[in-house]
Amino acid sequence: MIAMNHDDNGKAMQNKHKNKVIVLGTGNAALSAAMSALDHGASVTILEKAPKPEFGGNTRLTTAALRVSFTDPNQIREILDQSYTDNEWSSIEIEPYPNDKFIYEVIHKTGHGRPNPELVEWFTNQSLDIIHWLKDRGVRFELAEYLSQFDLTKQHGSQKRTYRGGVVIQAVKGGAGMVQPELAYAKSKGAEVHYEMPAEDLITNDKGHVVGVVARDQSGTLCKFHGTVVIGSGGFEASSARRSQFLGSRWCDLRQRCVKFNTGEMIFAAVNAGAAMVGHYAGAHITPIDPDSPFTGGLNTCERTNRLAFSWGITVNKQGHRFIDEGSHWNNQIYVDVGRALLDQPDQIGYQVFDARGATYREPLYAEQKQFFQGNDLKTLAEQAGIAPDAFMKTIEAFNKAAKHNTHMYDPTQLDSQSTKGLDLPKTNWALPIKEKPFSIYPVVPGVTFTFGGLASNTHCQILASNMHPIPGLFGCGEATGDYFYYAYPTGSGLIKGAVTGREAGKQAASYAKQV
Ligand SMILES: Cc1cc2nc3c(=O)[nH]c(=O)nc-3n(C[C@H](O)[C@H](O)[C@H](O)COP(=O)(O)OP(=O)(O)OC[C@H]3O[C@@H](n4cnc5c(N)ncnc54)[C@H](O)[C@@H]3O)c2cc1C
Repeated sequence: MIAMNHDDNGKAMQNKHKNKVIVLGTGNAALSAAMSALDHGASVTILEKAPKPEFGGNTRLTTAALRVSFTDPNQIREILDQSYTDNEWSSIEIEPYPNDKFIYEVIHKTGHGRPNPELVEWFTNQSLDIIHWLKDRGVRFELAEYLSQFDLTKQHGSQKRTYRGGVVIQAVKGGAGMVQPELAYAKSKGAEVHYEMPAEDLITNDKGHVVGVVARDQSGTLCKFHGTVVIGSGGFEASSARRSQFLGSRWCDLRQRCVKFNTGEMIFAAVNAGAAMVGHYAGAHITPIDPDSPFTGGLNTCERTNRLAFSWGITVNKQGHRFIDEGSHWNNQIYVDVGRALLDQPDQIGYQVFDARGATYREPLYAEQKQFFQGNDLKTLAEQAGIAPDAFMKTIEAFNKAAKHNTHMYDPTQLDSQSTKGLDLPKTNWALPIKEKPFSIYPVVPGVTFTFGGLASNTHCQILASNMHPIPGLFGCGEATGDYFYYAYPTGSGLIKGAVTGREAGKQAASYAKQV
């Protein structure tokens, strides 16, 4: 934290900063803050750590699956870019997703009761409204594919699109289809953008109010930017040092699905300036990914490394043992549990095992994986893959015995209750015996996506000090703020949280900046 010298604290100097908002980052949260601050009359400067071609943060890597609460499918229809005839629309089945369900899934289903109920209720309640707000600013929407139930059924030639569970839409062109129009909107309203200008510290006055940011330019020189600050610079998932510090050594040497820029320095700069740390610092979003994924995510990987077909087979570790109920829920509800469980396995590796039937349900992404083993003899495949063969065959035998009564084909549109019987570790749905040749084994490793711990904030997106009162001049949004997600999150909530908190942070920062 850099304290201003005496002259900097003078009134004349403060007036020079009147109406100025400095936004950190160019992900969805930061750009929502920038758009909102501009709409409310502020002059906005955006500082981005990444070079221009790589702007957009984790947001840009996503397929932009969005979780929205609604009571009538026509509320979805009116958002969509494509207009459907009544006939076409009647072939699409969309189950309403009331906000109570959204709240339940964030707080209880994935969050083990720990997320802050006030924050969760507040942001989920705005999930539909924020989509209209983004649409008004150039983001276009379509029916979701990846990570929706439809994605599972379409591969099987189903004529009927079925959507259950809240993830019904995505942005056209994914995350790029969010950040590109958002940035264009901000620039059209006069935002000034500095790339390769990572913020390093906050500037405070003698009252401890935040009055600006220190950033470092490409020549290594520190530059001061004065104004009201919105931290939208993501979590600390790309820092293995910070992951080790807060999440533990198991999280140190992992492949990252995220951009390399999110190393959390502005979270910790805010903490040095008095901000409280809240939320699940020992937790992060993590999924099973291709073992040949690069160590850092980026525009070449985006969503391509995920391996989420565990529902259609079993997953074992090197010792040949299952370690998780692969069918306890839809894959998009439990992929974080699966990713986290991989951390505890020997050599942090797992093996997804499919028979010929399960294989037909794998996402097309599996075709990109180089490491896999396929053939008619499971024991040979286990040996080739490096799995203890005898223990593995015992696992298969026990599983097949416990699943032999399940005779219906997989139904990806239902939690089909085809469970194992008598296993200590059950498979609750889609438990078909692994018996039809050819068999295949895909190794998977855990890949970290984003961290859950962050800065304390309220529903005005003011950053709170340790006494839980706002620090004047400091606002935050997106994954830089904590207490929203613990242990996991329901797919499609991150971008909604980012846009809702960004919009509010920008509005409040603009209002504060008018008064200083
Ligand atoms: C591969 C992948 C797929 C995902 N899929 C989905 C999905 O489909 N739906 C969903 O809801 N969520 C998804 N997520 C999660 C989602 O990406 C995040 O919840 C969301 O993008 C967070 O937005 P943000 O703006 O807070 O952070 P980000 O989008 O990560 O933006 C942070 C920005 O801050 C910049 N920055 C970092 N440090 C500094 C600094 N010191 N100074 C200046 N700038 C800095 C970064 O370069 C970046 O531009 C996915 C994440 C990944 C990695």
